[in-house]
Amino acid sequence: MTRVQVVVVGAGVVGFSTAVCIAEALPFCSVTLLADKFSPHTTSDGAAGILFAAQFPDIPLERQRRWFKSSFDHLRDIAQSQHSPEAGVMLSSGWQIFRDVPAVKEPFWSDLVIGFRFMTDGELKRFPDHKFGHAFTTIKCECSSYLPWLERRFRAAGGQVQQRKVNSLQELSSSYDVIVNCSGLGSKLLAGDDELHPVRGQVLKVEAPWLQHFIRDGDGKTYIYPGIHCVTIGGTRQEGDWRLEVDAGESKSILERCGGLEPSVAKARVVGEWVGLRPSRRNPRVEREVVQLRGRGVPVVHNYGHGGWGVTLAWGTAMDALGLVRRCLQETSPRAKL
Ligand SMILES: Cc1cc2nc3c(=O)[nH]c(=O)nc-3n(C[C@H](O)[C@H](O)[C@H](O)COP(=O)(O)OP(=O)(O)OC[C@H]3O[C@@H](n4cnc5c(N)ncnc54)[C@H](O)[C@@H]3O)c2cc1C
Repeated sequence: MTRVQVVVVGAGVVGFSTAVCIAEALPFCSVTLLADKFSPHTTSDGAAGILFAAQFPDIPLERQRRWFKSSFDHLRDIAQSQHSPEAGVMLSSGWQIFRDVPAVKEPFWSDLVIGFRFMTDGELKRFPDHKFGHAFTTIKCECSSYLPWLERRFRAAGGQVQQRKVNSLQELSSSYDVIVNCSGLGSKLLAGDDELHPVRGQVLKVEAPWLQHFIRDGDGKTYIYPGIHCVTIGGTRQEGDWRLEVDAGESKSILERCGGLEPSVAKARVVGEWVGLRPSRRNPRVEREVVQLRGRGVPVVHNYGHGGWGVTLAWGTAMDALGLVRRCLQETSPRAKL
């Protein structure tokens, strides 16, 4: 019997998560992952990788909670297993602080992380410009280790990997039965998506092993995230900015702002500077469509546009994408046991 041919485009955290979910759940499929860039050269590689999310405006809250919970539970299991160091996944405790009390005091994921509570006055004392805060334990997932780990898991499930630039989805239509598009910002071209745009982010990697707690300003622009090998400090959020070069002025501003929250940052040694472009749109696109490619209706499952929350939501949206692939296959071969 010929195997169903599935192709996943994209080797970032969304692509590899989706490819693993499909290859492990549908062993009768032959799954190939194609991408022009692999770790350590994807956007996912430089992300701080802290599990944290803002709410998207048009996606039912229950679906967003499911994405968050599914990712959190999956990564927490890795963090608490012997795979934690090689997968680059760890528990991380700390504070999110606000200059003014936010309109919504409790984010939608507050019961999905560990030990969420409001900060006490005593804890807030060290942040004199901030009036309110959250204390909780979440996950930090470092994609420079996690992506190679996922790739090994994908290959162990029979998946194949090829380095290749895809110029249009049409070129895949004759070789594959289902196309899964996880190309991040590349979907601007591949899916013709004009809504997709970059939100530029610059971060520094510093050596400061004495820092053990994350601190995030509620404005989302200033943060300190201790990791396994170094501390990521940031950042910037520049809508529509395609520059990939490091901006020296922004690095200086990051050091100053983070030093304002944690004075010992002044003693940290800078070991790297990095810029990435968040693949942003009003809502992530996790849906399927049938595209007419060379006169044939080919099912395409899209999974892209996670903005600043791709590491947080990757496993959850990958599980949704798997469900959409199943539905595509049920429609093309209704008697298949999926
Ligand atoms: C500074 C910064 C900090 C961040 N911090 C966090 C954080 O703490 N937590 C969090 O959850 N998120 C964070 N993010 C967001 C996160 O990095 C992204 O949401 C995530 O990386 C998106 O993953 P992706 O797989 O969709 O895209 P990418 O990692 O960009 O991968 C896209 C893949 O598609 C491939 N591709 C694209 N076009 C083509 C083509 N035409 N042909 C072949 N292959 C193609 C690319 O080569 C690549 O392999 C941060 C982002 C930045 C910039």
